[in-house]
Amino acid sequence: MSAVAGLYIVATPIGNLDDITLRAVETLKKVDFVAAEDTRHSQKLMNHLDVTARLLALHEHNEREKSQMLIDKVKDGHAIALISDAGTPLISDPGYFLVKLAQEQGVKVVPIPGVSAVVTALSVSGLPSDRFVFEGFLPAKQGAKLKRLGDFLYESRTVIFYESPHRVADTLAVMGKVFGLERHLVVARELTKTFETIKGGALGELIEWMGADANQQKGEFVLLLEGAVDSPDASALDKDKMLTLLMAELPIKKASKIVSEMTGDNKKDLYKRALEIQGRTV
Ligand code: SAM
Repeated sequence: MSAVAGLYIVATPIGNLDDITLRAVETLKKVDFVAAEDTRHSQKLMNHLDVTARLLALHEHNEREKSQMLIDKVKDGHAIALISDAGTPLISDPGYFLVKLAQEQGVKVVPIPGVSAVVTALSVSGLPSDRFVFEGFLPAKQGAKLKRLGDFLYESRTVIFYESPHRVADTLAVMGKVFGLERHLVVARELTKTFETIKGGALGELIEWMGADANQQKGEFVLLLEGAVDSPDASALDKDKMLTLLMAELPIKKASKIVSEMTGDNKKDLYKRALEIQGRTV
């Protein structure tokens, strides 16, 4: 029996192929089409699950032009599943445009929930999990990455990032500059796979650990940053943020001078504060 017409958002595994729900398998077997990010990649999962539905490509480059076509198929009475290469579609993956369009046109959208790397990592991180922020991927360019991280300087919730193997070591180094080497971080690597590693510690320790073993820079990563303990008032926060971002690029004296020129605050006080931020004694 085929599925009721609709757009089914189906989560697939993030590594271990057994991490798929019974309902996801049943849905994939019943739908008429499966829209997938990379059809060659997903064909392997379809073969593993004995799913015979036709695969259609829906990725970030064609999502806008293909979405209406998929919605029209649902309107014609078809059932379509959306999957991504791994985990839950739309979570740092294509699908937002399609779902939004479907909602706008009154097309039924059905969640078939399952794994996502963000929640999987959080569940084993040992960090506070009652309040957290998911930031996805950081910008690739240094300046933009630094600025984005600066936005979280006094974030008190656990902050979760996705990262790729060729950027992870650099991201840890930049985090060390922004948050200080004492801030606690958890690296969750290759979750549910053979080389699964969950390692928590001060940023300084983790930078050394990763630098000493190139294998720890391989695979897929979730980075979970412990929230900040102190939260100064808004104007102090702005000054601290300016100091932190400038100190990452300039000598501390120069950074304090620039902030003093911008805010009119005493240069020596700012210098003292800059040393405090760096975790050095005044
Ligand atoms: N939709 C997926 C989800 O629900 O988690 C995320 C897709 S995003 C394009 C891929 C990123 O997710 C990877 O670069 C990595 O940061 C994270 N990720 C996916 N699988 C992972 C795994 N098994 N272990 C650690 N991180 C993973």
